[in-house]
Amino acid sequence: MMQFLFRFDRPREHQAQMISDIYAAMQQRRSILVNAPTGIGKTDAALSAAMTYALDNDLDVFFLTPKISQHAIAVEALRGISGKFGGSFSFIDLVGKANLCTNEAANMLPSESFYPTCEKLINGKKCAFYTKFKGLDELPQSLISSASMGHHQFFRGAFSEGLCGYYSAIRAARKSRIIVADYAHMLNPYTRSVFLKSISHSLSNSIVIWDEAHNIVNLASDYLSSSITYSVIERAQKELEGIGSSIDVSYIGFVMKAVSQRKLANVTEAFIERTDFPKELEDEAESLADSLEKRGMEYLEKSAAKRSSLVHLSRFLRTWSGYDETATRIISRHGPSIRISIKSLFPKKSLEVLREPYANVFMSATMAPISMYSDMFMLDGAVSKNYESPFPKANRIAFIDGSITTKYESRSVDEYKRIAERIEEFRRHIPGNIAVFFPSFKVLEGTARHLSMARRIVQGENMSSAATGELLERFAASHDTALLAVMGGSLSEGVDYRDNLIKGIVIVGIPLSMPDLETRARIAVFEKQFGSKGFEYAYITPAIIRAIQAAGRAVRNETDRAVILFLDKRYTWRGYSNLIEGSIGISKSMDYMGEIDRFWGPKASAAGKGASDVRMK
Ligand code: SF4
Repeated sequence: MMQFLFRFDRPREHQAQMISDIYAAMQQRRSILVNAPTGIGKTDAALSAAMTYALDNDLDVFFLTPKISQHAIAVEALRGISGKFGGSFSFIDLVGKANLCTNEAANMLPSESFYPTCEKLINGKKCAFYTKFKGLDELPQSLISSASMGHHQFFRGAFSEGLCGYYSAIRAARKSRIIVADYAHMLNPYTRSVFLKSISHSLSNSIVIWDEAHNIVNLASDYLSSSITYSVIERAQKELEGIGSSIDVSYIGFVMKAVSQRKLANVTEAFIERTDFPKELEDEAESLADSLEKRGMEYLEKSAAKRSSLVHLSRFLRTWSGYDETATRIISRHGPSIRISIKSLFPKKSLEVLREPYANVFMSATMAPISMYSDMFMLDGAVSKNYESPFPKANRIAFIDGSITTKYESRSVDEYKRIAERIEEFRRHIPGNIAVFFPSFKVLEGTARHLSMARRIVQGENMSSAATGELLERFAASHDTALLAVMGGSLSEGVDYRDNLIKGIVIVGIPLSMPDLETRARIAVFEKQFGSKGFEYAYITPAIIRAIQAAGRAVRNETDRAVILFLDKRYTWRGYSNLIEGSIGISKSMDYMGEIDRFWGPKASAAGKGASDVRMK
C-alpha cells in the first residue's frame, strides 16, 4: 500500500479519495481540478498527494494562494508533515518584497513608492540590511531553521540578524523543495520570470497547487488592467515641475480631454481605441513610462510624499502599450472627473502559465460548474473531480421563494416592501442571527427602509477593512440580529462566521454585473472564446457563484445548522436553479415556513418567534 506524506493518522471521509485522485493525475502527468466543499481537508489532501509524487520523482511543489492570510494553513500542514516524517524536505513561506523588507525606512511606504525606493537604496548601497546580506556566503543556520515557521517568524529572524528578509528568503527558497507563495508570483507576467529565475526553480519541473482556484481568471485579468483619471496627469505634471524636470505630460491630458469631448458628448462612457490617441504617444509609451518612473522616484526622494502620480502614470502607460488582445479601453465621466480604463477581459496571455508546470492541482470549494473552469484554464486532458460535503446534509435546508424579483425593470417601492415583508417573515422563524445578502447597495437601501427589525448591522459602501473588521466583531457579539450586506463583498466571501453565528441566510435577487460597456465587452470576448457558452460564463455563472458564496457563510463545520432562502423568481428558472443545485440541495416543499419550523424544532421556533416579537414592538 502506498505511503503518503499525510500528517494525521488517517484521512477523513472523501479525503482519501481525493488524495488518490490527485496522485493518479500526477502519475499521468495531467492537471486536476478539485471542487470540494469546506471541511474535506483539501489543503492536506493536495499537499499529501503532490508532495509524495514530487519527492519521489525529483520535482518541486508550489502552493499558491490569492491572499497572504491563506498561507498559514498550508504552513501548518507542512510543519505537521515535516514533524511526522522527520523533516525529509525543506520548505519556505514566501511573500512579496514589501512584507519581508526589514528596513524600516522603506517597509512602511505604499507599494508604488516602495519598489523604486528599495531599488534606489540597493543601488546607492544605502540599505544596511542588504549590504550585510550580500556579504554573507551562507545564511545563518538559525534563520534557515525559521524558514519552516512561516514568513512572520522568518521576518523576525532576518531582522534580528540585521539581514534583508526578502533577499534572505529568496536565497533560502533556492534550496527549498516546497514553496508557499502568492498568485502574484505566477500570474503577473511582468514579474514571473524574474521571480522564478531568482529562486532557481522552473515550472516544468514543478507541481503547482492553486488554492481557491476560482479566483485565477479574475486575478490574472487584474494584472493586465489599469486606469487613470485626468487629475493624475495634472498631479504628475506638478511633480515634474517640482523636481525641475523638462518633461511635459500635460499634452496627454489635452488629448484625453479632446477624446472625451468627442466621445462623451451624449453618453457617460464610450469605447476608445489606441488609434484615438496620436501615434507618437503610442510609439513612445514604453520609453516615456521608463522616464516617468525614474522621475517619480526622484520626486519621492526629494519630497516628503508617500505616493507619486508619476509612478501611477508610468504603470498606466506600460499597461496601455502592453499586448492583450482581449483588453478593452473605456473612457468615462464621473461628475467632473474623466477616467480611462484598460480592462483585460479574458487574460489568455497570463493564463498560458498554466501550461508550463509538470502538472497543476486546482482546488476550491466553489469551482462549480467545474466544466466552466476547465474550459477557462484551456488545458488539454485535465481531470475534473467533484466531492460531496462531509457535513451532514440534514444540517442545512434551502428554499427558493419566487414571489418577488429584483429584476431592474420590476424594482419599485412596492416590490421593496414585499422583499422586506418576506425577510421579516423569514426572521420570525429563525432562532438566532440572520444574514441578508443583496445584489447591490441600491437594493439593500431600498429594502432596509421598509424593514422594522431594530437589531441590524448594515454594511456601508466603500467601508475600510478596519471598519469591516469592527463591524464583524460587533456582529460576532450580537444575538437575534440581522446583518445586511451585499454579495460579492468582503462580508459575503472569504470570511468565516464561526460557532454557528448565522442561523439563517436570505439571498435577495441575483448579483448580475451592471450591463455597462465593460460587461457587454466581456460577453462579446467570452462568446468569441467559448461560443454558445460565452454568455453564461461571462454573465450568469459569476453572479450565481457570488450568490452561492454568500449562501455558504452559515455552515462552516459539521455541527453548524442553518436555513438558506433564495428570494427571486429567477431562481426558479432552470438555467439558474441547475447552477444552484449543483452546490446546494433545494427543498421543493410548498410550505417552507412550516418546513423551517420543523427543522429547528418546536422549542427553537418558539424562541425565534419570541425574539422577533420583541424587536417588532
Ligand atoms: S533591500 Fe531588502 S531590506 Fe533593503 S529596502 Fe529592499 S527589501 Fe528592504
